[in-house]
Amino acid sequence: MNKNKATILVVDDTRYNLQILSDMLANQNYHVLEATSGSIAINLAQEYIPKLILLDIKMPDMNGYEVCTNLKSNPITQQIPIIFISAIEDVEEKIEAFAVGGVDFINKPFHLIEVLARVETHLRISSLQAQLLEQTKLLEMQNHSLQKELSNLTGFDWALYAELQKANDCGEFILFYQPIVNLKTDLITGFEALIRWHHPERGIVYPDLFVPLVETTDLIYPIGRWVLKSACEQLRIWQQHFPNYIDLTMSINVSTKQLTEFNIVEFISEILFDYKIKPHCLKLEITEGTVMGDREHTLQILYQLKELGIQFCIDDFGTGYSSLRRLTDFPIDILKIDRSFINNDEWVIVKAIGSLAFVLGKSIVVEGIETIAQLNMLKSLFSSSLRDCYGQGYLFAKPLNSELAFELLAGNQSFTLDIATGNEL
Ligand code: C2E
Ligand code: MG
Ligand code: MG
Repeated sequence: MNKNKATILVVDDTRYNLQILSDMLANQNYHVLEATSGSIAINLAQEYIPKLILLDIKMPDMNGYEVCTNLKSNPITQQIPIIFISAIEDVEEKIEAFAVGGVDFINKPFHLIEVLARVETHLRISSLQAQLLEQTKLLEMQNHSLQKELSNLTGFDWALYAELQKANDCGEFILFYQPIVNLKTDLITGFEALIRWHHPERGIVYPDLFVPLVETTDLIYPIGRWVLKSACEQLRIWQQHFPNYIDLTMSINVSTKQLTEFNIVEFISEILFDYKIKPHCLKLEITEGTVMGDREHTLQILYQLKELGIQFCIDDFGTGYSSLRRLTDFPIDILKIDRSFINNDEWVIVKAIGSLAFVLGKSIVVEGIETIAQLNMLKSLFSSSLRDCYGQGYLFAKPLNSELAFELLAGNQSFTLDIATGNEL
């Protein structure tokens, strides 16, 4: 720090004090600004942004505390260290000087040598603080570019990981709900909970952009628990509110990692108890990868959960590599036929998967139904088993926020009527 260049503002309504402080500082080669009132001091501080202010407390018009509060509330002047100089003896008033943002207090009558020592100390402290801030900024920038480099080398997106950690801490995740409809009755029997990230700047972010990273890191544990808890809480509200939907179900996506989490069985049974959910109303959606993983351990957990009465569904069925044996070994209740088969009109495969499911005593959910033609095709393919056949897709409804899902339930209508009249939701 070059002390010859530092500008110091001295504020005192007593001309004599102002003069001797100014002369002493000028003799030390400081550049001195003088103010005889609070309003002059504020104007000078904003214009010249001095490195330090010596501020009297008792002044007419505006006292030193008011001047200090004003300067601290202005982003331009809030960093300037302020040393109060006053004849005040009252301890509480002295404490007030620190409460409004002063860094030090010098009693009047003052000794010039003491004032100088304190001025120099605080100039040094604030210069070090400024350096620290600069270094921190530099480190943050270096950290950011190192993370980027690491991401390029390892293929792991550290920046997204850090953002997701923050999103989890700040509660930025929300759940949407997509109805699941029975194809025999055309009525809603349940919902699938689908996570969204309500990003403060980017708006709604879809799971394809963040769930893969969440599932491969430790973030899956807190986020997975949050999803389970929130979806069950929501289910309880709807079941209680709508007597027609007392057995409404909630399907929740769970990853393989989540199933191996310590205490997962206790956690889920506590949720069922807390929200008074009948276990068969909770359907956990796992993928073919889950049943193909560590067989013994996964089986053990699945059977423990099955004992609670929970239902299991294999999601996106037909896209993975599950061995058919696993369909009988594992306690699976539902096969959810991947939407790519519907999209590509692969009806022979759809029919084959459905027939296999029914023979094994399981039901099916067909994903991605978007048109009336697709729905009619499914109804004719499975005409004799429609009771065990469910559909999900934009034709019925897109994933909805909880308010819109509530309205849908309040309507309590059959989808046949809506679809037949072309009144798509
Ligand atoms: P998923 O479990 O297979 O969910 C179905 C996806 O298909 C949803 O996408 C849904 O919006 C979309 N979909 C439904 N009907 C139609 C349709 O008629 N046409 C088309 N084109 N798409 C349809 P979303 O919500 O983007 O979710 C994507 C995936 O993210 C989910 O696939 C699931 O694997 C994962 N995911 C979502 N929420 C969670 C969660 O809470 N936990 C975990 N672990 N994974 C989740
Ligand atoms: Mg799913
Ligand atoms: Mg799916």
